Amino acid sequence: MNEEASYELYLKKSAEHHEALCKRCGACCGLFEKDPCSELVCGEDGRYYCRIYEDRFGLRRTVHGNEFLCVPVRNVISGSWAGSYQCAYKRELTGWRVYPVK
Ligand code: SF4
Ligand code: SF4
Repeated sequence: MNEEASYELYLKKSAEHHEALCKRCGACCGLFEKDPCSELVCGEDGRYYCRIYEDRFGLRRTVHGNEFLCVPVRNVISGSWAGSYQCAYKRELTGWRVYPVK
């Protein structure tokens, strides 16, 4: 494998590792707030998923019709939101214990 292919593989594995960390708790999409994102759905496994994941960033609406910007979680990771104590990415950053979703 050449250097470029090796680097591409490294980036792919890093992205997969990062994605796999998410517990699908739904907290960053407003699940524990009064007016969550309208694109947030509960899967058969009891975890939460974005209905439009590949196209999620940009102007979105809550279930009550309020507009907000969906941004990459890394943009807000230093802040806090309802339920953020259980976010796996915050654990990576801070070493906090993450509680199971179910
Ligand atoms: S659009 Fe953004 S805030 Fe809404 S469910 Fe998808 S990822 Fe979460
Ligand atoms: S709060 Fe963190 S662990 Fe929960 S769904 Fe959002 S990114 Fe994933």
